[in-house]
Amino acid sequence: MKDLHKFIDFIKHDYPNEIRIIDEEVEADYELTAIATESEKEKNQMLLFTNVKGSPLPIVTNVFGTRKRIALAIGSTVDEFYSIWDKRTQRLIKPKIVEGGPVKEKQMTGKEVDLNKLPIFKHFEQDAGKYVTAGVVVAKDPETGIRNLSYHRLQLVGKNKFRSSLHSRGHLWRIYSKAEKLNQPLDVAIFIGAHPSILLAAAAKVGMGVDEFEVAGAVMQEPVQLVKCETVDLEAPAFSEIVIEGEIPPFIRENEGPLGEYTGYAAGRSTNNIINVRAITFRKDAIYQDIVPGNSSEHLLLGNVSKEAHVIRRMRETLPNLKNINWPKSGTHFSAYLSLSEPIDEGQANHAALLLLGLDSYLKLVVVVDEDIDIYNEQEVLWAIATRMQPDRDVNVIKNVFCNRLDPSAYDEGTSAKIIIDATKKKGWTFEKLTVPKNFREKATRIIKKQK
Ligand code: MN
Repeated sequence: MKDLHKFIDFIKHDYPNEIRIIDEEVEADYELTAIATESEKEKNQMLLFTNVKGSPLPIVTNVFGTRKRIALAIGSTVDEFYSIWDKRTQRLIKPKIVEGGPVKEKQMTGKEVDLNKLPIFKHFEQDAGKYVTAGVVVAKDPETGIRNLSYHRLQLVGKNKFRSSLHSRGHLWRIYSKAEKLNQPLDVAIFIGAHPSILLAAAAKVGMGVDEFEVAGAVMQEPVQLVKCETVDLEAPAFSEIVIEGEIPPFIRENEGPLGEYTGYAAGRSTNNIINVRAITFRKDAIYQDIVPGNSSEHLLLGNVSKEAHVIRRMRETLPNLKNINWPKSGTHFSAYLSLSEPIDEGQANHAALLLLGLDSYLKLVVVVDEDIDIYNEQEVLWAIATRMQPDRDVNVIKNVFCNRLDPSAYDEGTSAKIIIDATKKKGWTFEKLTVPKNFREKATRIIKKQK
């Protein structure tokens, strides 16, 4: 069975440049975030800390920092990631309930439960406290019994208590609201640390009523093995590192947050729920996983890649000349650059941008460029805007549209305006991009590379 331990071993052996093992003693609070932030500017490696002050557990972070590692997690390459993800997720694979697993090796129940034994730490100065950032919450819809997986920030507030935001537009919130109407607590199982395919599937934007464990099975091409929990009627991955069992009581609210969010700002928006913890089970060699919060590449990519696959498939159904789409890190989840292949029909840039804005409600800015522009190079995108765009002709603003509420500039109603910039060459365009003959380009590359 695939798990986090095996993935780390695979990276260590086959892609040693993708991981950095830090044996030097480090502090969990702030220092891990500081190291991850500096590391992102360099090789952006996955980081395994083996000597965290006060923690018997090693901590891994930035597993999802690059598209390369995300592709490796599903046994793919960056170029083939979308088509492989898309093909596999057409046929979901149900999880399998098994009799036991490594996550049952150790337990704390009842009075022994102490979340302080886990190396839960503080990331940013603006955060309200110590947070679990890689916790996946498993819950069952009280009406349909269908499982749901979703990420929720978990603020440590006591040895057996978290505060959390259930995200008021997400599936868990809808499930919790049904339980609350019945005046019942909602049982949850939270797993920390699992094979990255499971974590990617947990972030997938699938419909309400789809069990994300089935998506994980499809992506891994084998059923996820689950074990029954000790104190709640739920199942969690047998090969996960840590499982925390508990309940979200109805009608209790306590101030939660703020926490550094993907926007690059701290967000105080929260449903202000609490989670009472009843049991913790874990492997004897458990690794504590963290996701670098804020606008780190890891947080942004983990949130976006499965959505990108979904959006690109639908865009291609309508736009055969769609070349590619990039959601750049600079835009957090709010900007996208889209390229179209020639010939581009009159009005097609706007059509493509409107489709994209329709499929991804987080987006606020879409720039459309020709295929000769590398959308992964922001200098080139800005050059296309500078030289192929006239603001009075090529900019469209659409007012009063549903948006993501974490956008600090959004209107109180949860709406924002959307902007389309058409930076493609227009009808009658005769200018040519400056070039030198191909053989000289190749020779030049050789000379320059040799100099290094
Ligand atoms: Mn869901």
